Amino acid sequence: MPILEKVLIANRGEIALRILRACKELDIRTIAVHSRADRELMHVRLADESVCIGPAPSKDSYLNVPAIISAAEVTNASAIHPGYGFLAENADFADQVEKSGFVFIGPRADTIRLMGDKVSAIQAMKAAGVPTVPGSDGPLTEDTERSLEIARGIGYPVIVKAAAGGGGRGMRVVHNEAALLNSIQVTQSEAAAAFGSDVVYLEKFLQKPRHVEIQVIADGQGNAIHLGDRDCSLQRRHQKVLEEAPAPGIPDDVRAAVAESCVKACIDIGYRGAGTFEFLYEDGGFYFIEMNTRVQVEHPVTEMITGVDIVKEQLRIAAGLPLSFTQSEVRFFGHAFECRINAEDPKTFLPSPGKVTTFHPPGGPGIRVDSHLYDGYTVPPYYDSLIGKIISFGENRKVALARMRQALDELVVEGIRTNTALHRDLVRGRAFQSGGVSIHYLESKLED
Ligand code: ADP
Repeated sequence: MPILEKVLIANRGEIALRILRACKELDIRTIAVHSRADRELMHVRLADESVCIGPAPSKDSYLNVPAIISAAEVTNASAIHPGYGFLAENADFADQVEKSGFVFIGPRADTIRLMGDKVSAIQAMKAAGVPTVPGSDGPLTEDTERSLEIARGIGYPVIVKAAAGGGGRGMRVVHNEAALLNSIQVTQSEAAAAFGSDVVYLEKFLQKPRHVEIQVIADGQGNAIHLGDRDCSLQRRHQKVLEEAPAPGIPDDVRAAVAESCVKACIDIGYRGAGTFEFLYEDGGFYFIEMNTRVQVEHPVTEMITGVDIVKEQLRIAAGLPLSFTQSEVRFFGHAFECRINAEDPKTFLPSPGKVTTFHPPGGPGIRVDSHLYDGYTVPPYYDSLIGKIISFGENRKVALARMRQALDELVVEGIRTNTALHRDLVRGRAFQSGGVSIHYLESKLED
């Protein structure tokens, strides 16, 4: 008997294929749901059943909750995996899924809600002993004198952030007192328009941090473990481009202390499923910024250095099974990189949808390719431009990086433009090769 009867995959592209592969391995039947523009997706062809849930625009298909629930009903699904993006961190969707009698493969809806509001997330994390950024410890009020006082206490520069913000939007850096009150007001009205909530808070603005995150898995039955860290500092417009695990140059005791605080937080909030604690790391200190309550794009680098299949664990936990291993059984070995290959112009970054005439993925020792591409596949213009991920593993950072260089040289994608040239350039960058660059590295390199 499989642990779950049938899983509906409420996503598309490479992550839908990744989830399908994990299901197949566990003998779980799969249902692909897709938009009218996505009939040709690789996982749709491989799934046991498929249902068209609407026209191309995401709001009519991958974000169409009634259509997804009906698809689950007509196919008799037992559980729904939301992947990342789309409805993955939508607490109302998680509620609806469970109310309709299906298992939501993720945390409970109230946990998603708690973590979706950055102010409540920070408060919960602080209470659990997770290190946070010095800040207002709560929403700013109408008392402007008090806001000025808080900022003075933190010290400039500060950053005004929307509690409901996401995707790198809804924040503003303030360099001096004269600009503070106006910045608060502008961020409030922008946040009200974009996120439907004008709640904002203040944080110390860190000048040259790295983005380092901790992967956790908890079974909601009192067991939680961490799978170490990932460095995702290479970003453009707050979008991650290239990731690695472990984060280079972080002392073992510092990493262990922050990871243990995340595990404790999971137990404190009764967390269930896979999750990521995102931190800024500066001058040897970790500062929590937010939690992602889902599987992440960059999860493979952690899988490579631990041997844990994160998606299979998600499925096991959704089936009500306890974690299949303990913290002391997690073995960290080697180093891994991931390059996100996007269908976009390497210079202008404009999306480049269209027909892929040739796709030749790289291979060889330590290379993993998570991609839904095949010769003749047409990348539709409606969705995220991620077309695949090249992952390299080696017994140490140097070997993993050498393999990645070779893999990028072997990769052939013809018919559309991709950012492969950018990656080839990045992995040859001297500072990057040494490790530990800040979140500004990629953008300042692009300006040169
Ligand atoms: P979002 O939910 O929009 O992704 P985050 O809170 O995760 O917002 O922040 C996104 C990015 O903004 C971070 O990766 C970092 O680059 C920058 N950032 C956020 N808070 C700070 C801070 N206190 N100091 C410096 N940079 C910050």
